[in-house]
Amino acid sequence: MRYSVLLGKVQGVGFSVKEADTSLLLARAGFLRHTEDASVSLLPLGTRVLRRMESVLESVLDKRGAQPVELPQLVRSQSLFTSGRYEIFDGDVLYFRNEKGEEFFQTGHYEENVIDFLKTFAVSENEFPICVYFYTNKIRPLWDQTGTALAAREYRTLNIFSAHRNMIELNDFLPTVSAAFREILNGWGIRTLYTESELHHSFGEKAFALTADMDGKGSDRFFYCPKCGYMARSHMAKSAHSSHVEELKPSQKIRIPQSCRTYEKLAEYLGVPDYAVIRCALFRTEKSFVMTVCRGDYIISKEKLGHLSGGTYLRAATPAETALFFPDSRFLSPVGLDEDDRIHVIVDESVVHGSNFVLGLNEEGFVLQNANFGVDFEGNETADISVVKEGDLCIQCGEPLRLRKESEVLRLIKTGDEYSKRMGFYATIRKKRQPVCLGSYSVDLVRLFFITADKARDRHGFGWPRGLEPFLLYLFNDGQTAEARDLTEAVYRALPDEILLDDRLLPAAKKLQTARLTGIPYAVIVDDALLKKRRVRLWTRRTGRKREYAVDLLLKKFKNGNRTF
Ligand SMILES: [Zn+2]
Repeated sequence: MRYSVLLGKVQGVGFSVKEADTSLLLARAGFLRHTEDASVSLLPLGTRVLRRMESVLESVLDKRGAQPVELPQLVRSQSLFTSGRYEIFDGDVLYFRNEKGEEFFQTGHYEENVIDFLKTFAVSENEFPICVYFYTNKIRPLWDQTGTALAAREYRTLNIFSAHRNMIELNDFLPTVSAAFREILNGWGIRTLYTESELHHSFGEKAFALTADMDGKGSDRFFYCPKCGYMARSHMAKSAHSSHVEELKPSQKIRIPQSCRTYEKLAEYLGVPDYAVIRCALFRTEKSFVMTVCRGDYIISKEKLGHLSGGTYLRAATPAETALFFPDSRFLSPVGLDEDDRIHVIVDESVVHGSNFVLGLNEEGFVLQNANFGVDFEGNETADISVVKEGDLCIQCGEPLRLRKESEVLRLIKTGDEYSKRMGFYATIRKKRQPVCLGSYSVDLVRLFFITADKARDRHGFGWPRGLEPFLLYLFNDGQTAEARDLTEAVYRALPDEILLDDRLLPAAKKLQTARLTGIPYAVIVDDALLKKRRVRLWTRRTGRKREYAVDLLLKKFKNGNRTF
């Protein structure tokens, strides 16, 4: 590639490599361009690095017997009905309708398509595990509060799926995937943490993640324990709730004024702290309505609640649905619901371990003071369904948990056999028809590119890990003669894919600055003085030193595929 025609050149002068943030520095160095809606386009330099990353990841997968495939990215509505995920995505993702009225969804989840695909093979017992991978551009619309799509974020994603005869084999396979990726990421200078993650809209047993240690400057929220190392995504983290236990007092029905319309107002009116008020909310799951009963200073984790409800579909009940059960919907309450099997009541542990709460009564103008779980109200189930707060105690060792921002790189989901059962993906194993167990793994590649770039930064620019550099050689002619020009062209023609030929009229020092900034590991400088000896100057980015190098040796190495000099 000739620098003069490269899309995306070094921009701006006199900027500080040290001070610019990574995204800005990547833009300055010509790896990417920020678009107006704050997403990014990768320029040729950035794309070359990304492709090299992909090829390393692919080689690791290929070595483990994974097979590359191309699958449709849109999911047919019929498949979503079968899997039970239609309602989750309806109205919430991009979709298309063809002339027959059939709908196709851009869900960003591919379990349905993978199962529809794998089902078409008559897989025999000894073909397991089956592992496939493919790339997609996930598109997620960003909505405003009125439900209008503001913009779309796109994520180039590497999706990997594995199919197994049973959970035991899936459980054995999952750590080998994470270990292989961990090794690669370590090689790229990315230290990783193994954390519990979120299932989002997926059925599954459990989700984990390899998370890049970004020194607290990442983009995902985690709770972690500095003492024992426990770490989980904020909405999945568990804690021993801090409790405010007092001696149980007898409950008392009290009148509240009309002006008490919110929980905040109620606490203010009664002069009690927010943790003394119980908040209830109504949700709709795939199977039923669920009422959550939670202490006022905690919020409900939809992740935990969805997981507990055994389905992927979970949303807040609409006002109309709420009005079906509760004419006064201000302060919902489990009181009096014991007989109503249409609503499943889940009481959060924060309430179970506390005492003397203020609680709604499903009766206009009244609440219950000193309400206690087990005395004044019950639930169908008690569970941990709230989001941990900083300072809550670690469930493993009792140390206060801290909030920490790091970046997930690889998500691993133990999906299990729920989709297979629903979608009829069975295999005959030991003469018995059994649902196939699935594991799914995904990498947001552009995010990984940013993380790698961030870790690769040094004094001069990007010191890319070996094998990821956008070009192997930076070549330029520092001579004045026709011979020097011819030799430069001859070197370039020998390996044009791996060489960035700087044909600008600039001093050599400026050109080397570009080589440093973009992270090209070697520069070959042709000058008149060395021409007669058929030698060039070879500059190494890592040491900053130049040495003489024989042109014939250079060309011989190119020919033999040797890329170290
Ligand atoms: Zn701990």
